[in-house]
Amino acid sequence: MTNPAVIIAGGGPTGLMLGAELRLAGVETVIIEKRKQRERVQPGALGLHARTLEVFEQRGIADRFLAAGKPMQVLGFASVRLDLSAFPTRHPYGLSLIQEHSERILLDWAEELGVPIRRGVEITGFKEDAAGIDVALSDGGSLRAQYLVGCDGGRSFVRKAAGIGFPGSDPTLSHLLAEAELTGEPEWGLRSDAIGTHALSRTETGKVGIMVTERGIGSGEPTLALLSAALIAHYGSDYGVHNPTYITRFTDMTRQAETYRQGRVLLAGDAAHIHYPAGGFGMNLGIQDAVNLGWKLAAVVKGAAPEVLLDTYHAERHPVAAGLLRYTLATVALSRSDDRTKALGAIVRELVGMAESRLVTAGRMSGLDIRYDFGEGHPLLGRRMPDLEVVIADGPVRVSRLMHDARPVLLNFGSEAVGAGQWDEVRTVRATYDGLWDLPVIGSVMAPMAVLVRPDGHVGWVGQGTNEGLTEALANWFGPR
Ligand SMILES: Cc1cc2nc3c(=O)[nH]c(=O)nc-3n(C[C@H](O)[C@H](O)[C@H](O)COP(=O)(O)OP(=O)(O)OC[C@H]3O[C@@H](n4cnc5c(N)ncnc54)[C@H](O)[C@@H]3O)c2cc1C
Repeated sequence: MTNPAVIIAGGGPTGLMLGAELRLAGVETVIIEKRKQRERVQPGALGLHARTLEVFEQRGIADRFLAAGKPMQVLGFASVRLDLSAFPTRHPYGLSLIQEHSERILLDWAEELGVPIRRGVEITGFKEDAAGIDVALSDGGSLRAQYLVGCDGGRSFVRKAAGIGFPGSDPTLSHLLAEAELTGEPEWGLRSDAIGTHALSRTETGKVGIMVTERGIGSGEPTLALLSAALIAHYGSDYGVHNPTYITRFTDMTRQAETYRQGRVLLAGDAAHIHYPAGGFGMNLGIQDAVNLGWKLAAVVKGAAPEVLLDTYHAERHPVAAGLLRYTLATVALSRSDDRTKALGAIVRELVGMAESRLVTAGRMSGLDIRYDFGEGHPLLGRRMPDLEVVIADGPVRVSRLMHDARPVLLNFGSEAVGAGQWDEVRTVRATYDGLWDLPVIGSVMAPMAVLVRPDGHVGWVGQGTNEGLTEALANWFGPR
């Protein structure tokens, strides 16, 4: 294999999305995945949030996920249901779809785009110098690239080997999670006791999904014997548990990488942040990290933009994960059953239940109201571009349709001659739009005369009748010319 420009450690959802984004931008990359088989066996996400569906819409693949999953209102906090139905988005809901399926759809798409994936090989070391990074592989081979991105999960080798700190809090809760067969008829559904919540349910394969809360924080390999003992402790029987597909453990350990970039090493997805699964953020964050990073890495390796563009990846994405980690920490705290926590929970429920805070919380948890801090300006600046149906020379088209190839778009709604000049990669489109500009949480905003939409769908510049600031914005996002 010729040396790629970017090596991706890990072919989970984050690595697959990043690989696809880099290929769309025409960058040579390779995913190194230690798992031998194509399919994911370990459990994971139960669904996709609204912003992730919008991101997929921007790449023309949302229909694949919608055909496989079930739209539903999935969000909630402190037992308050957060309904997205009234939000101005094409996807005012979450999509119930297990990670095994989401990952398969992403993998198929990445393969269609020609992303090379080397399976059954691990990244075992790396060393960077002024011109590149040498990456050692478990099969004895090595690769050289310009950048290495650790998408290698919560126990990330890349993060540890780079010496990037992972501050946060130790676990207070620990669960065993398994899929197995039972010989006896169990007590189906959720059950709570002084230790915590336990659940038994049928899975798609006809086996039984088992979740039990451990007494204390479990350590060591989760085994069938441990699972059996935990079932007996909580249910009085292990129902003849046998033939597990997997047995794993998850906790509420919450940590976030202190930096998402160190020299030629970057981190994305679980490698950069781990937390309790309540709220269902992990995979969604990882996919959105990848979409934020992909076009920036592409611009830098092509020599169009300076390296400093990569620092905006940390500046934009670290606060988003930090904000959501707070919800997961709070959810665990509020799940305690002592009188004081119950009182606190009642107050939080009352506050979050108020119309305005319900709106704000739904905007944050769904990812629809993410605003990157690009400074003062029009409310669109830093927020996601709404997927409006605009009219261009060829007729009506959705903005998301203009973004399938992950190129930046300069939409000109005015009569002024707004153009991207020497930035050939930016597609300038003259459009008209007569409807309301309605943003989730914010509501209606003044119609802009022009917007520069970055490949990740966030607005990098807003024009209100003049070209003021456009050249600076183009240079800032896509490199000086
Ligand atoms: C019980 C549970 C429920 C969850 N529910 C949700 C949910 O509802 N919604 C949600 O969004 N998220 C949920 N998550 C979280 C979600 O599963 C993760 O956030 C997601 O898998 C992260 O994706 P990733 O690609 O960053 O990492 P991973 O999926 O962990 O992928 C990392 C990949 O890297 C590979 N790898 C590791 N080390 C190396 C190496 N040295 N070299 C090469 N390859 C390597 C691994 O084999 C793996 O395939 C849940 C997780 C759990 C455990």
